[in-house]
Amino acid sequence: MLVPPAIEALLSAPDNRTQAFLAAGHVCTVMGFEEYVPLAKKYRVPIVVTGFEPLDILQGILMAVRQLEAGRAEVENQYARSVRREGNRPAQELMAKVFRVVPRKWRGVGEIPSSGFALRGEFAAYDAETRFGVADYHADEDSECISGQVLRGGKKPRECPAFGGRCTPERPLGATMVSSEGACAAYYTYRRHAERAGS
Ligand code: SF4
Repeated sequence: MLVPPAIEALLSAPDNRTQAFLAAGHVCTVMGFEEYVPLAKKYRVPIVVTGFEPLDILQGILMAVRQLEAGRAEVENQYARSVRREGNRPAQELMAKVFRVVPRKWRGVGEIPSSGFALRGEFAAYDAETRFGVADYHADEDSECISGQVLRGGKKPRECPAFGGRCTPERPLGATMVSSEGACAAYYTYRRHAERAGS
């Protein structure tokens, strides 16, 4: 997956409510963050490259909020111990040799042009989609799942009628409940009791 096209798709949507981004540090370790600079400028939105430790996240949020309060919209690098502006050039060259850029469907969001990777023809023998005949297999999200709106910041997980009942981390109905960093899974782990108590 390529992150900048997804950020642009979110920011250019008419119902966009996103005011700032924490860019994933592990992705930027390879890809760098030069591609984020024109996005921050065009959409007037702070983008902070951030690591994954709790203190990284807190500092990334703080840096984004400070930008918003100061009226700035820049790319900043909280994860400087791992990420360089240009990223890992040898890794990028290797990826360009093996993969080509294709449209890709993002769970809960839909297809975004030029946002994914597929193996180049010379590596087709390693392409699991072709080899196992699953290229046309689609796992559509449950009809009552609103994870697309949760991902875009339009709704909170608790506003989903399935949250914590029919949808839990053990039996997820949508993308944002599947992995622990997903918004619904995080709300389920840390907020569901507080939400019930009305706090
Ligand atoms: S709680 Fe489950 S069903 Fe509801 S939006 Fe989140 S992932 Fe989808």
